[in-house]
Order: sequence, then structure tokens, then C-alpha cells
Amino acid sequence: MAAVVWLEEVGKDDVSVVGGKGASLGEMINVGAPVPGGFAVTAQAYRDFINRSGIADSIFEALKVDVNDPAALNGAADRAKMLVLEANVPEDIEKDIRNRYREMCKREGEEVLVAVRSSATAEDLPDASFAGQQETFLNMLGEDQVFDAVRKCWASLYGARAIFYRVEQGFEHEKVNISVTVQKMVNSEKSGVMFSSHPSTGEPEVIIEAAWGLGESVVSGSVSPDNYVVDRKNKKILNKFVASKEIMIVRDQKTGKTITKKVPAKMKENLVLSDDEILKLSEQGEILEKHYGIPQDIEWAFEKGKMFILQSRPITTIKKAGDEAAESKEGGKVLLTGLGASPGVATGVVKIVTGAENLAKITEGDIMVTVMTTPDMVPAMKRAGAIVTDEGGMTCHAAIVSRELGCPAVVGTKQGTKTLSDGMLITVDGGKGKVYEGKVKKAKEQAPAQATVSAPSKPITATEIKVNVSMPEAAEQAAATLADGVGLLRIEHMILGLGKTPRYYINAGKEDEYIDELVGGIRTVAEAFYPRPVWVRTLDAPTDEFRGMEGGENEPYEHNPMLGWRGIRRDLTDTDHFRLEMRAFKKLHDMGLSNVGIMLPLVQHVSEFRKAKSLMVEEGLNLEKIDVGIMVETPGAALTIEDFIEDGIDFISFGTNDLTQYTLAVDRNNENVADLFSELHPAVLTLIEYVIERCNKAGVKTSICGQAGSYPEMAKRLVEIGITSISANIDAVVTVRETVARAEKIIMLRALREE
Ligand code: PEP
Ligand code: MG
Repeated sequence: MAAVVWLEEVGKDDVSVVGGKGASLGEMINVGAPVPGGFAVTAQAYRDFINRSGIADSIFEALKVDVNDPAALNGAADRAKMLVLEANVPEDIEKDIRNRYREMCKREGEEVLVAVRSSATAEDLPDASFAGQQETFLNMLGEDQVFDAVRKCWASLYGARAIFYRVEQGFEHEKVNISVTVQKMVNSEKSGVMFSSHPSTGEPEVIIEAAWGLGESVVSGSVSPDNYVVDRKNKKILNKFVASKEIMIVRDQKTGKTITKKVPAKMKENLVLSDDEILKLSEQGEILEKHYGIPQDIEWAFEKGKMFILQSRPITTIKKAGDEAAESKEGGKVLLTGLGASPGVATGVVKIVTGAENLAKITEGDIMVTVMTTPDMVPAMKRAGAIVTDEGGMTCHAAIVSRELGCPAVVGTKQGTKTLSDGMLITVDGGKGKVYEGKVKKAKEQAPAQATVSAPSKPITATEIKVNVSMPEAAEQAAATLADGVGLLRIEHMILGLGKTPRYYINAGKEDEYIDELVGGIRTVAEAFYPRPVWVRTLDAPTDEFRGMEGGENEPYEHNPMLGWRGIRRDLTDTDHFRLEMRAFKKLHDMGLSNVGIMLPLVQHVSEFRKAKSLMVEEGLNLEKIDVGIMVETPGAALTIEDFIEDGIDFISFGTNDLTQYTLAVDRNNENVADLFSELHPAVLTLIEYVIERCNKAGVKTSICGQAGSYPEMAKRLVEIGITSISANIDAVVTVRETVARAEKIIMLRALREE
């Protein structure tokens, strides 16, 4: 049997031969849809390759590892991929692939640029979806590149994520195959998506979204597309909405790579599609819907005036009779997508905030839309029904404060302040990271934002479960989680919320006023938790956050404030201020709040800890009676942890937000690299393990207070590594506690079985 088939030779029943993608493309060609031509390398060809080259057994042997061990998983993935990439492909298979590409070029009358895509399939379960787990190679040209890309697609069957997924889902590696489709690239001038029926009601109304250039911009949501509505029955265009299309993704003529460009000014506000094109598309949508018997979600493109259909999938959101979930958010038009930073759903009126001068316009329940929130916006954030920002990641100011306020928030939308305008009614889903047009009902199963906070019955865990707090107002709510203490009380939100820098108070001779502010805020939290420990972190605000405040006029301009004068390094040079904090701690202890501990941020060398301690002693603190610890949030601190242990730290807490950013060189607040930010990266986990092991030996308490402590997966890993406590966000305490309880039971059961 040939290793390759033309796409038109297959149809929907051939998933086991050419995978779901190949089968669907073949089916569409057979019903006359204008699908770009091409061929598929069959799943059997891949099977023959690994069997005849003799690597099959070695691959499956290599995959027998504990997939929860990142080092073992990555090792297995590397070994299996190497086997596929280096083995000899039987001559006949290689020849079939190369010949077919040459024939394809003949058909097209030129050497064609192609997209080479993987399409995995399970032997017994052809419907199983492995979408997005294997690789795609765009813009391949010439038989060598194509053959090489096919082999890389085969190897991608053994990516770490794909291996992990199959084990988690119970698929046997031996029974999963991979086909590869090789299809002509469409260099579209315009493209988009189309719903052949209304995606919410199922009415015969075609909805088309269109933008300039290649389709990625619409599919990924990076551009607001035009929107057209067609009455399918009467073949009448009901509505044409022209969006301002800022960017387009196009193929670079020289390199063949896709690049993002600004849309030329004169095209920005132009309709992307003519009436003829709109009607032609909607007709094609109807044909596909009739053929499949179910409304379709279709990707389309126009190249040199010719229409192409790139993909068609069933719409899964249409309401069935009595199905309330379909009236949910899914049905609304998505205006923006970002990171779901604080769960909950809220509908309200947009108010764009550009700075302190227009904060007053936020009234109760309004949706605050801004580039990024700053501490002086907190009072207005408290009034807001939801928050949307252009910038930021899961640990930015807006994300931290919103979670604590129980206020839904979507951050890092890139263009919220441009896409939205004052007065628009929108719905924000802070769980899904989406912003919808108008009022969209909550899904039935959507729990209100605060619902997870209460903890009526609490599983007892050996690992202590603590809570992070930033605002004294949240103390009661935090204590209601029955957490074992506060693993991080951030005071900078408290201080920056005053609107004046500590320097202002010092220069104005108002030191006592400042100390009283600190004592008041910390006391509220310490009393709510007494006698449970409250670890208060000394000030950790970067210079850019101080600059906008009264007293911040002389803050230095830093090239990179995240790597600059913040945390302990500021405390030890601006000692006036550090001393005021220490006086506040002394007052709190003198009041009997002996549960207050001190935690030092951004430490990277033991000398910093020593200097800080001597200042504490100079201010009269009795270090025998106060817990003093450090945050481990630089690789420097992690790798020299033994020096700190020797110097007498009482505890450490992983600040994984910073530890991850400094280990991976990924700016935690930069949405452009947000997908690279992973606290579960093996390098971060290795540092954590290194520290916990050494602290455990020395009897030093270990904890985590970064955002990752709120992720069940991370919590489970930390329990396995042997952490003493985990501090989670208020809304995550209950889930983390349950995860930890289960993880501990598993460890105990395993130990019993091994006895
Ligand atoms: C951290 O870095 O993980 C942390 C908890 O500190 P912050 O987010 O305040 O920098
Ligand atoms: Mg930090």
C-alpha cells in the first residue's frame, strides 16, 4: 500500500487511515468545498517506518517512565524523538512522500509552499482528540523541507505534553498512530471564521467575522474583526459591522515567514468583504451544514479573489430545548480575550481610566478598563464590578488585588482600552478570561466569585494551609477560610494605597503617622488570625510604582525596575524607611501580637539577611521571640540556602512569581511572553526541591506564597517534595486544602503498601 493518499481519496470514515484532520479535509473536498489541495502520509506509513527501521520496541521501552517526574518525562520524550529523527526511513516510504510532493507541484504548476500538519489517531478510538498536541510546520518549500517536516511531525508524537496527556487519559502509546497532511498554503488577503447558524440560538443566521491577512489574527482574537450577519433563508445581509482593524498577519515575501504588520490607515476602517463575498461564503456554510447535518464553525480565506475553506467543525454551543447552559456566556460575541485573573462574572458599563484624574468616574458596579492598575486605583477598584486591563500577567497588581476583592478580572487583553469605549455594556468572565458584548447570562454551573471562600468542614492536613493577604479589609474573609495562618501579608498595597511614599512621611517629619498606618493595617490581620502566625513581608515595591505618588518625584528612573531597587536591596540602602517598619513590628509585639513574623523579600545573598537582622536588633526587636525568614525568589538565594540556614533563618517562603521570572528570564507582567511563564518548569522545581531538602534537614520551615501555591498541581508536587506549608489566595484555599489532603493520603497509602 502506498504511504500516501491524495486528500480527495479519503473521507470522514478514514480517520484511522489519515487522522481526523485529513479525513475532514477529504470529506469537504468530496462535497465540493474549495479546500486547498494536498495529500496525506498515512498512519500506516508511520507504523511501517517504526517497525521496519527496528525502533518501535526502543521507543515504547523509553516511554515507560513516571510522567509526573518532569526530568524522567523530558528524558523519555528526548529519547523517543531522537529515535524517530535519526532512524533510516525505508526507501519506498521516503520515495512515496517525495514523489507525491513533486506530483503536487506539477498539479499546481509551480513549486508549492505547503503546510505540513500532524494528525494523531488512536487505533481503537478513532474519535479520540489529540488536537493541538503535535506539531505543524507552515511555509515548507521543496521536497527536502517537506520530507524533513513529515519526520518532525512523526517525532512530535513524543513531545512531553503529548506523552503526559496519553498516560493521563489512559491511551496506550503503542496504539496511537500519526498521519501527516501536506496541504497547499493559502496566502490570503482576507480571512476569518463563519458560523453556518447562530452559535447561540441555532437560528438559520450566518455570522461571519473577517479581517485582513492570514486567519491567525481572527482565530487567536488578536484583532477585532468585522462582523456580518446573513439571513440564510432569504439570502439577505442583515447587518454589517465594521471594526477598526489595527493589525494583520501576512506572509513576508522575502523570508516566507508570517509576520504581524499594522493595517494601512486607509484599510483599517474598510469593510473586508464585499456583499458578493459575504453571500458566497454563507452559501458555502449552508452546504457544509446540510452535508454534516449540524451547524458548522468554519475557517475561510480569500486569495486573489478565490474563496478557500480551511476547516469545518461542528458548533458545540447551540442551545437544546431547556438547556440553560447554552444561554450562557458562550453565546455572546467575544470582544476581548486575556488571562482570567480573578474568577466571577459581571456585567456593567465600561469606564476607561487613564490615570488618577478620572478615577472618580467609576461608580458602583462599573467595569474599570485601563492599561494597568496602580495602587492609587484601589479605592476605585473596590467600587468596580469587574476589571479589564491591556497589560499584565497572573501576578500583576490588577490580578492580585482583584482576587482579594473578589472582583472578576481579565488582564493582558492587549487592546481593552482601544476595543472598548465609555458607555458600552459588557460582560466580563474572569474565570475564562473573556469579555463579551452586552449582557450575557451566567452559565448554570457558574459559582459566584465568593462561593469558594467559606470552608464549612475542613480536612486536617499535615501540611499547613495558609492564606495570602494584601489588604486589611480582606482579613475577615481570609480568616473565614480557616487557614492555618497568613503565609504572606504584602504591605506595599497598604502603603501605596496611602498615595504618599514613605519618603514623604520621613521628609515631612511625620514618621509616627506612617508607623501608625502600618500598625493599624497589620494589626487588623494579626488579630483576625491570632494566635496563628502572620508573616509580614517588608516593603517590596519597584521604583516605577512609587513615582506617581506624592513623595515619589525623585524616584530614580530605572531601565528595568523588576531587577532594580526593590525589596531588601532598597531596605538596606534606604534604611530610614526600614527602621520605621521595624518600629511598627516592635509596637505590634509590645501589644501582645506575638504571632507577627517578618519576611524579607528579594534576598540574594546572606549578607543582606545579616544586615537586616542587625538593623532589627538596633531597633529593639527581640529576635529570640520573633520569627524572621526570607523569601526564596532569586536563584541566588535558592542556591546558597545553606548559608542562610547557618545564619539562623526561621523559615523560607518561595516567591514563585519572581523565582520563575528570574530563573526563566520571563517578565512576569509581560503578556507577550505569558505562555513561557511556568512555575512548573523543571528548573524552577529543581531549585525548590534543592531548598526544601536542605531546610528539612535543618528543621527550617518551608512555605510558598507565590501565585503557584494556589494551583492544585503545584500544591500536590510540593507536598510530595515535603514542604511544610502552602499559602494560597483567598479564593483557592479550600481547593488547595482538599488537594493537599488527598496527596498526603496517597503518600501514606503508598508507604503502607510498600511496607
Ligand atoms: C512572588 O514573587 O512570588 C511573591 C509572592 O511576591 P510578589 O508577587 O509580591 O513579588
Ligand atoms: Mg516577589
